Amino acid sequence: MAELSKNHAPLAVYIHWPYCARICPYCDFNVYKQKQDDDLLRAILADLKHWRTRSGPREIVSIHFGGGTPSLLSGEEVAQLIRSVDALWGVGDDTEIAIEANPTDMDAARWEAYRAAGINRLSLGVQSFDDAVLTRLGRDHNGTAAQKALEKALQIFPSVSADMIFGHTGQTVAHLDAELDTLLSFAPPHISAYQLTIEEGTAFARAESRGEARAVDTDTSADLYEQVGARLSDAGYDAYEVSNHAKDGHRSRHNLAYWQGLDYVGVGPGAHGRITEDGVRYATLAALTPRDYSARVNETGSGLTDNTLLSSEDRASEYLMMGLRISEGISVKTYADYAGEALPQTRVDALKTMGLIMQKGDRLSATQAGRMVLNSVSAKLLGV
Ligand code: SF4
Repeated sequence: MAELSKNHAPLAVYIHWPYCARICPYCDFNVYKQKQDDDLLRAILADLKHWRTRSGPREIVSIHFGGGTPSLLSGEEVAQLIRSVDALWGVGDDTEIAIEANPTDMDAARWEAYRAAGINRLSLGVQSFDDAVLTRLGRDHNGTAAQKALEKALQIFPSVSADMIFGHTGQTVAHLDAELDTLLSFAPPHISAYQLTIEEGTAFARAESRGEARAVDTDTSADLYEQVGARLSDAGYDAYEVSNHAKDGHRSRHNLAYWQGLDYVGVGPGAHGRITEDGVRYATLAALTPRDYSARVNETGSGLTDNTLLSSEDRASEYLMMGLRISEGISVKTYADYAGEALPQTRVDALKTMGLIMQKGDRLSATQAGRMVLNSVSAKLLGV
C-alpha cells in the first residue's frame, strides 16, 4: 500500500452502494432494488479521482462501505475501490476499512476476499435474534442466521460491530435482556444499539398513521435505553456515543470523524460530504439515483449536485449537535471560533442545573440524562 500522508489533515471516505436484495419497511436510506451496475462502479472510481484533486493530499483515517447493501459487491470490486483510495491518497495499516453487511448475504468466501482486500472491520445488521421480531421488522434473516453470521464475522475480521434495534412495539425489558444475553455470549467488540424510530415516508410511518403501532411509547423507550446502557456498561463496553458501545480500541473511527467534525468525502448516489477549504466548510451532496449519479460523473467528472458553503452559524450548530453525541463532547473554544461568539453562559448553566450537561475545562458534554433528550438539549444551547 502507498505511504500514508500523516502530515496532512485527516479525511474519511464514504462509499455508498445503494442496492439491496429487498427494501425494509422502516428504511429511509437512499436504496434501490438489487441489480448488477458496472456503470456505477466505474463512476465511483472516477468520482474518487475528482475528490483527490479537490482535497489535495490527506491522511485517510477510514474508508467506509455503506448503503444499501455494500456486501453485495464482490471481493474484487471492493479490492478495486480500496486500491483506488490507496493510489490516490495512501492507506496505512491503521486506516479503518469497514463494510456493512446483512446476515442473509453472509458468504464466507466473499468475506475472506474482503479481508484479503484490506477490510478490517465488518458491521453486521443483526437487529434481533428473535424470528418474530425480525419478521415484524421486515428483515429477511432469522435468529439462527444472525448468530451464524456473527460467529463467522468474528472469525474473519479483527473488528466487528453488531447492530441491534430495540423499542419495537410490544418489547419489554425482559425481552431486551434475552436479546442482550444472546448478543453478549458472542462478545462482539463493538455494538450499535439503535432505538427504532419511525421515519417519515416509510412503510412503518404509514402503518402508524393508520393507528397500527410499530414502536413502543416514550416511557418504555427510555426504560429500554437505560437497560441497554446498564447491561453493556456492566459487560465492559464504553458508551462513547449515544447509540454506540465499544471495547478498548474498537470505536468506529469513521463515525467518529462525523461526530468530531472532521472532513469526509462521500462518493456514490446520494452520498453527503463535508470538506474544509481555505478555512471554510462545504456541505456536498451527490446525485440521488444511480442513473443520475453515473450520468453526472460521465458529464462533469464529479457526481456532485450540491456544494453549499456552510455559514459560520450552521458550521457551529452542526459541530455542537454532532459533538454532543459523543462522550468527549465539544470544545467550547472551537464552537466559539466557528460561531464567532461564545455559547451564552446562562444557557449552559441552566442545562447544567437540570443535570443534562457537564463541563470539564474546555469540554462540554451531555450527561446520561441529557443523552435521552439530546435534540432538545442542543436546541436549548443554540437558542432555537
Ligand atoms: S437492508 Fe438496510 S439499507 Fe437495505 S432496505 Fe433494509 S435497512 Fe435499508
